[in-house]
Amino acid sequence: MTHVCNYYMTDIQAAFAEKLISACAGAGMKKVFFANSGAEANEGACKLARKYSSSKYGKGRHTIVTLLGSFHGRTITTLSATGQESFHKDFGPFTEGFVYVPGGDIEALDRALDKNTVAGFLVEAVQGESGITPQSQEYLSAAGKLCEERDILFMFDEIQTGMGRTGTFLACESYGIKPDVVTLAKSLAGGLPAGAFLAGEKVADVLQIGDHGSTFGGNSLAAAAGLAVLDTVAKPEFLKENLRKGEKLKAALKSWNHPKITEIRGMGLMIGADITVEAWPLLEALITKADPGLLLLSAGKKTLRFLPPYIISDDELDQGLDILKSML
Ligand code: PLP
Repeated sequence: MTHVCNYYMTDIQAAFAEKLISACAGAGMKKVFFANSGAEANEGACKLARKYSSSKYGKGRHTIVTLLGSFHGRTITTLSATGQESFHKDFGPFTEGFVYVPGGDIEALDRALDKNTVAGFLVEAVQGESGITPQSQEYLSAAGKLCEERDILFMFDEIQTGMGRTGTFLACESYGIKPDVVTLAKSLAGGLPAGAFLAGEKVADVLQIGDHGSTFGGNSLAAAAGLAVLDTVAKPEFLKENLRKGEKLKAALKSWNHPKITEIRGMGLMIGADITVEAWPLLEALITKADPGLLLLSAGKKTLRFLPPYIISDDELDQGLDILKSML
């Protein structure tokens, strides 16, 4: 059986929930709701924040603050949450109640987090889509303090950064932050569609039976795959390897002193390199002209985005670097 109606509990879904909660214990997560994608997970997180706020403070306190340059999905509401004009073109009108602030600017955040109108602050610890931009420790710590003082939910979109990508199981752990809500997807079920939003202690009981649902969310097949992923990934020695390989990749790129590479940044196996030329023709040439070819991503127009598979070997890393260097 790949799927069982959500009116019933299945052992495999319960086991997946327990294991995922225990993998996210360092971030203080207590409960999980399973969805099918990242956008659906973020929508769920926004619903949770709005219900928390509306049941406690009444109507009108529903705004979600996000960052300029953020990426949270492609549904009408998650596009609303996404602070990048380029994704909005042609698709309005959007869901109301989203406000953007520039990342790193704590005064702008202080002004935006109005305790009478704002329900939540949704943030990526490292912005993926727009250029591999890690937020600073000072910024995220100050943001957490403001959220706590004003009873605004601090929500981490870990769809790209989570599941060990940045070298800890969740990126918020490396900042020592325990958010109210965390969202996951992408590698959650190792290539099968799956998403999840997780709730910390304060908001674990906000959503009650009937408040939210998803026909295929947490289906038996995705749950079995997710359990297998966690058995491999949620282990300190595995996460340490992601960190080591990421450092190796960054060190190699730096050692080239290449005139076309101007900056290298990132955490774990999530690395960005700013280049002086357009990234897209280079990515194309890496597939069509290099032999063997190399699959790379861009983030924005002039940043190369490295998100290698966790199983990449040191030899494969070296080989990929050689291909990139010769094509650059
Ligand atoms: N949030 C972040 C940070 C993402 O990187 C993505 C996808 O790239 C999403 C949300 C949307 O996830 P999905 O494509 O599974 O809806």
